[in-house]
Amino acid sequence: MSVTPIDVNDNALKATNAFRHQRRSVVAAYLLALFVMTLLFGWLLNEQYQQEIEAAESRITARANVVTEWAKGVFAQSGQALFGLAELLTIQGMPDADNTQVLERALENLTHYVPLVNEVGVMDLNGRVLASSNGNRNAGANIGHTQFFNAFKQGGQQELITPLYWSDRNQHYYLYHGRRLDSPTGDFMGVVVSSIIPDIFADSLEQMHVYDGESIALVDSESRLIARHPALDEQFAVGRKIPSPQADQKLANEETAWSLKALSPVDDRERLFRMQRVGEYPMLAVVGIDLHELLAAWRQRALILSLVMGMLALLGAWGARHYLSRLALAQQLSQRIEEREQARAEAQVAAAAFQTHLGILITDARGRILKANDTFTRISGYSEAEVMGKNPRMFSSGLHNAAFYRRLWEQVLKTGKWEGEIWNQRKNGELFPEWLTISAVYDTDGVLTNYVATMSDISERKAAEQEIHQLAFYDPLTGLANRRLFMDRMGAALKELQRHQRCGALLFIDIDNFKQINDTLGHYTGDQLLQGLARRMSQMLRDTDTLARLGGDEFAVLIEGVDSNHGQTSQLAERIANKLLAVLAEPVVLAEESVTITGSIGITIMASSEHNVDDYLQQVDMALFQAKSTGRHTVCFFDPAMQAALLAHVKLEADLRHALANQQWQLYYQPQVNHQGTITGVEVLLRWLHPERGLVSPGEFIPLLESTELINEVGEWVLEDACYQLARWAQHPRLSQLTISVNISPMQFRDKDFLQRVDGVFARTQAPLHRLKLEVTESLFVEARDYARDKMLSLKAKGVRFSLDDFGTGYSSLAYLAQLPLDQLKIDQSFVQQVLESQANAAIVESTIALAESLNLEVIAEGVETEAQQAWLLAHDCRAYQGYLFGHPMEIEAFEAQILGR
Ligand code: C2E
Ligand code: MG
Ligand code: MG
Repeated sequence: MSVTPIDVNDNALKATNAFRHQRRSVVAAYLLALFVMTLLFGWLLNEQYQQEIEAAESRITARANVVTEWAKGVFAQSGQALFGLAELLTIQGMPDADNTQVLERALENLTHYVPLVNEVGVMDLNGRVLASSNGNRNAGANIGHTQFFNAFKQGGQQELITPLYWSDRNQHYYLYHGRRLDSPTGDFMGVVVSSIIPDIFADSLEQMHVYDGESIALVDSESRLIARHPALDEQFAVGRKIPSPQADQKLANEETAWSLKALSPVDDRERLFRMQRVGEYPMLAVVGIDLHELLAAWRQRALILSLVMGMLALLGAWGARHYLSRLALAQQLSQRIEEREQARAEAQVAAAAFQTHLGILITDARGRILKANDTFTRISGYSEAEVMGKNPRMFSSGLHNAAFYRRLWEQVLKTGKWEGEIWNQRKNGELFPEWLTISAVYDTDGVLTNYVATMSDISERKAAEQEIHQLAFYDPLTGLANRRLFMDRMGAALKELQRHQRCGALLFIDIDNFKQINDTLGHYTGDQLLQGLARRMSQMLRDTDTLARLGGDEFAVLIEGVDSNHGQTSQLAERIANKLLAVLAEPVVLAEESVTITGSIGITIMASSEHNVDDYLQQVDMALFQAKSTGRHTVCFFDPAMQAALLAHVKLEADLRHALANQQWQLYYQPQVNHQGTITGVEVLLRWLHPERGLVSPGEFIPLLESTELINEVGEWVLEDACYQLARWAQHPRLSQLTISVNISPMQFRDKDFLQRVDGVFARTQAPLHRLKLEVTESLFVEARDYARDKMLSLKAKGVRFSLDDFGTGYSSLAYLAQLPLDQLKIDQSFVQQVLESQANAAIVESTIALAESLNLEVIAEGVETEAQQAWLLAHDCRAYQGYLFGHPMEIEAFEAQILGR
């Protein structure tokens, strides 16, 4: 299984998300448990609290009942005593005021038997004290005006107990218990009253056992304290009003018992109270229990429970934390595994990347090699083990100086990178160029840790560059500088010689007749010749001179900064030129034949800063042209007259383009005669009637026509004019037998439209074609002979005949000549004119005649100027002639006059 970095990243993300989800769930579960536990514990505590409260309530209720019952008992005893006394008085009647001793004794006894009764007194129907248990201390006192007394007297009340009542006389609070005295007839007799000291309640309450925080009190109907256990300090003495709005409310509502929670006004502690009316009496039993005390146990339990809960929460938290950390650990573990997977995948990628087509070398910060890849081994020849721990200095080629390396490292340290071309040494000692990139590697803290060098062997590229350079600047055939390089060197030389005020020379060399050699002996031979000549010339020249092949058979020599003197430079250049000519003239063996080559040299001296490279090139070109036109094997210096001639030439070329349209062409006719002197035909020769220069000869303009390709048009015009002439003569009895020879340039003949043009002319002129002769030259057959031959055959089929002009000047292969559909050989005038002076020429003419005879061809000699020449020719069986001896080329009228005049 392979893990891609993308898979790994994806998985890591999923794992992290799953972990987060789990963590959230655990925290939520923990919080929920905590919440439930809190709820549960809260409920439990609340339950217990309620129970505590309920238990306390029922306890204090019971206690309040007891107190109430007891208080009722107290009042019942007092009531009993008062009842007995009242019964007695009803039966006995009220004693006289002076006769109260018995009653007083009885009253005194009563206080003895009923100890809670402090004092008992009897009032008459006017409220005056009749008798009292404490003798006559109260004698004379009257309560007739009091509300209490009147409640019995006027209100008909049988029995009444007062709330606390302040006795000014005794300076004490009392509770008074009264009973109405009725006569046997039922009339109001008075009131019997007992007073009860509140202290007896306090004493009794004291007997009761109270728990911590518990209190038992009795208050009157106006909330004044009667008794309390435990007792309170001075501040809360008997009679002290204890405000309790709730109690007042309940009393107003005539409720008999109730519970309430309130802050005790006595000690400001919160208490649970049970309040209960003591029968019909103006008294309340109040049992309170201090909630704080009451709930002490509950609080303790709550505390314990809270502690337990806290423990549980902590335990849970610890568990959850533990679980979470285990989860985190597992997540980290899986993440690490993922990371390791990723690292492994990345390492695989890195390893694959490391093995690339680039050589890679990794060093530590001190430059010791740590790692090298296979490509490095392939480039350098060193295995990784061989270079491990070493310094890359070991590859130095020695071609760069210390400054180079210093600059290199300075840049690496400054910018973190260097890139460039460097020469190194392979294990086998070979020096080679490489493209090297050095990068510094820093860790996250920015500390330099490594250098990484990547390299590619660029020796092949260099070689290719070298080759491109060679191709761009050198001639592939001879290895000499080509035109481009020569121009560069010339430009540089010109600057140089201007700076140093020196002269230089520029030579153009042209191999004479090279085209013919090439055409006749083939390109391969031509190439060999050029290579040989180049070799010889470069051997002859100095190293500082530049020899170049500018193209074809054209060579150039640049001789730099020779001398400051113009004349001396010219002399030197001439000497060199002559030597070159001599070198060229050494015989060479070509196609197993020894051939002598000649050349023409044009020279110009470079001295002035007025001229630029192009100017000098033009000058030397003209000098060469001059040399060639002067005759071959010549050296010619440039002179300004040449320039004028060249300009004229250029103008001529321009004029030529308008010649046809301006009807400046004219045909001249030169007679051809037989041995009897009879004119058999004519050769038409083209003339140009130039408006300024007059008659211009074909030697000057035919090459121009050829180079501008106007030859096709002009040639067609010549042929057409000649054909019309033939057609006209055909009508004339004395001229109808004449033939017309028309010169056809090889270029014109080779043109692809030639046959078409010719057919057009024939169709238009309707000339008798068997009287038309076309003059072609040997050079026509040098290239594509078969093609030329086919064309000739197709014309010959129409009756046209062919003459081979200028025969003997070319390099014709005689073997091929026999295969051509020729009718006539025309011996070149250069041989004819020398026939009497030069035996060699005579021999050539003789053998030409013999050749024509053997090939069954006619033969005609041109350029016959003297009768001696004609005689020689006749003696050697040449019976046709053309030349000034028989007539110069002339206008048609002159010719016709001559022939008809005869
Ligand atoms: P070519 O065809 O060999 O013509 C003969 C040349 O020799 C003519 O020169 C003629 O005037 C000259 N000539 C004739 N008899 C004598 C003589 O006794 N002594 C001397 N010294 N010269 C004689 P021209 O007219 O100057 O023509 C030169 C060449 O120009 C011709 O050589 C021919 O190759 C070419 N040419 C002339 N007219 C045409 C033309 O219409 N078409 C083409 N393609 N070439 C033409
Ligand atoms: Mg001719
Ligand atoms: Mg000729």
